[in-house]
Amino acid sequence: MKRASKKLPAMSADEATAFDRFSLVNAAILEETAALKGCGCRAYEDWFTYKRWIAQGMQVQRGEHSTRIAVIIHSEKENDAGQVESKSLPRTVSVFCRCQVQPAAATSPARLEQVTA
Ligand SMILES: [Zn+2]
Repeated sequence: MKRASKKLPAMSADEATAFDRFSLVNAAILEETAALKGCGCRAYEDWFTYKRWIAQGMQVQRGEHSTRIAVIIHSEKENDAGQVESKSLPRTVSVFCRCQVQPAAATSPARLEQVTA
């Protein structure tokens, strides 16, 4: 199955680090996960989704495992009667901490080596 046709607009680095909502539960989960990993990564500062890291010019390192958190996606849509309907849908997203990423430029030569080796 192809997923490439569903393209989302590119996210800026500023947008990638901005959050319009805050979850104490998710913050606690991520801070505890960081403590278990032995790193000091902070929720909403050092934990981002794959796409948010890419938007910041970072690349998740090969073999790194994500941490899954539950979020509520809010959306508003105008119906046929012209009324705005809001929806809240539960979703699970995968996030990675700062220790699991490197600047995208630093990872490219390594990838080339792996391909040519
Ligand atoms: Zn970390």
